[in-house]
Amino acid sequence: MERVYNFSAGPSMLPLEVLEQAQKEFVNYKNTGMSVMEMSHRSKDFEDIIFKAEDDLRDLMAIPDNYSVLFLQGGGSTQFAMIPLNLMNKNHKADYVKTGQWSKKAIAEAKRYGNVNVVASSEDKTFTYIPKLDPAKFDKDADYFYMTLNNTIYGTHIPDNMIPDTGNVPRVGDMSSNILAERYDVSKFGLIFAGAQKNLGPAGVTIAIVRKDLMGNAMDFTPTMLRYDTHAEKRSLYNTPPTYSIYFAGLVFQWVKKMGGIDAMQKINEEKAAIVYKFLDESDFFKGTVVPENRSLMNAPFVLPTEELNAKFIAEAKAKGFVNLKGHRTVGGMRASMYNAMPIEGVKKLVEFMKKFETENK
Ligand SMILES: *Cc1c(COP(=O)(O)O)cnc(C)c1O
Repeated sequence: MERVYNFSAGPSMLPLEVLEQAQKEFVNYKNTGMSVMEMSHRSKDFEDIIFKAEDDLRDLMAIPDNYSVLFLQGGGSTQFAMIPLNLMNKNHKADYVKTGQWSKKAIAEAKRYGNVNVVASSEDKTFTYIPKLDPAKFDKDADYFYMTLNNTIYGTHIPDNMIPDTGNVPRVGDMSSNILAERYDVSKFGLIFAGAQKNLGPAGVTIAIVRKDLMGNAMDFTPTMLRYDTHAEKRSLYNTPPTYSIYFAGLVFQWVKKMGGIDAMQKINEEKAAIVYKFLDESDFFKGTVVPENRSLMNAPFVLPTEELNAKFIAEAKAKGFVNLKGHRTVGGMRASMYNAMPIEGVKKLVEFMKKFETENK
């Protein structure tokens, strides 16, 4: 089988040239006589890899010096606990925006450690829009204000220009599915995190970008490994980090730089999304499920008039090399995830296929 257009929500498509570079270096990395996987994390060779990855990410995202960049384990889901454990430390309360499954999980976890105030929710319409973020409803004494920046499952996002004013309350953003895909001003946040497997590389490493003044006040019972300061003090080398995933994410950072950086990626992502959404708006057969003004650049959910047609479309698309288009089990229908590594031709060809399917089945 040839390589397919993989529209998976995650783990997802990786740039072919990065896969090929990793393949070339797989057995004998830069004449070290070993694979990166066989290398001591205390070696100079590995330090070069992890520190270069950090520098490149700082460059790409314009991360200010008063932030630490951490390479952690445990996925995005472990951050749901680490954030309250480390940040809910003054008034033991935090504001959360509820926009889907991921923020629901984050809320449930935070409730174990303090008071959670849901300041806005779109649950009434199955998370098909971003609720109004009204600062009048925010708690000025909250320890932090939490948002999921891209809702992988429902296909909405909060772009940089919609980040609300929270005064002195630090903003926390889950960027798992849109990091390096659209521009955010990092200085608006106290903390940003992202699991790697959607836009950065293989599963196994989670990036946390943490403002330095927010570290060092974790709850007393916080396990050492779940304290941000533990990892910040040792530049993510407190214990053995996920070395191969970090190496691979580093290659992806270099690839994004070569592509022109985040702004260039965002431009392509906007083009890709526009192709899909324009078709969905014109079609009276396929239908997008999200309100136009809140549509994600990364994940486009859509449905056909019947369950039978959904199933038929997914099966025929797969046979044509457009795979993993089945929607999340809680939404049904289809979802096309178009992360950085999905080339624009993949999206154009998918839409051509959708047009053909419409003509044949309407
Ligand atoms: C995938 C995802 C997560 C969870 O990531 P894991 O690494 O599987 O724990 C959290 N938030 C968002 C927005 C995601 O897309």
